[in-house]
Parts: sequence; structure tokens; C-alpha cells
Amino acid sequence: MAYPAECCGLLMGHRRPTSLTITSHRSAANLARDSRRAFTLDPDALLAVIREIRSSAPTVDRTPQFLGFYHSHPNGSIQPSRADLASAWPGYFYLIVAVGLAGPPSYAVALQRAVGSF
Ligand SMILES: [Zn+2]
Repeated sequence: MAYPAECCGLLMGHRRPTSLTITSHRSAANLARDSRRAFTLDPDALLAVIREIRSSAPTVDRTPQFLGFYHSHPNGSIQPSRADLASAWPGYFYLIVAVGLAGPPSYAVALQRAVGSF
């Protein structure tokens, strides 16, 4: 558990014209200097996922695709931060999980596709 730091990782699955199915995820190290307020995903994790997808045998359905990223906002909102907006890759999906430890655990999730920006 990364809390109170931000966790981050990669999302894989299938993208269709009207739907998105996340079939797996891979956690990654957060290399940000201030990991409580930002995330910098370990690029080795991204390279490993790309290599894994390229080397996987096609399935009856389809080979999973790299869809995007997830990260948490400890004690924050599901709205993307300025840094999130500035670093988003157009066309990829960003799942933000707001996590708080005050009271019962609460989770809010937003999945947004970056098109130029969110
Ligand atoms: Zn963020």
C-alpha cells in the first residue's frame, strides 16, 4: 500500500469503438521526489508491459492493448491535477482513485481519456 504516497501503474485491456474493458493492471514504482503529491511512473514498468504485449500470443478475442495509466490522489479529489493535465498522453486513459483514510475507507474513481488534455 502506497498511502500516504500516490500509487501508480498501467492498464491493459481492449478498446472498442463504444467500450473499454480493462483486463489487467501492473503496479509501478512512483519515482516522484514528492510522492505524496505527484507521481512519476517508473519507465521500466512501461517498457516491460509493452514487451509483454508484443511477445504475447494472440488470443481468440484479441491481444490486450496498453490502454493507459492509473494513480491515486491520497486525501484528494478525482479531478486531474495541473501536473496530470500537463503530462497526459493524448489518446490514453487515466484512472484516478481518490483515497482517504478518515472514517470508513472511501474510493472515488474517474476514468478519463486524454485528448490533447483531459
Ligand atoms: Zn493526479
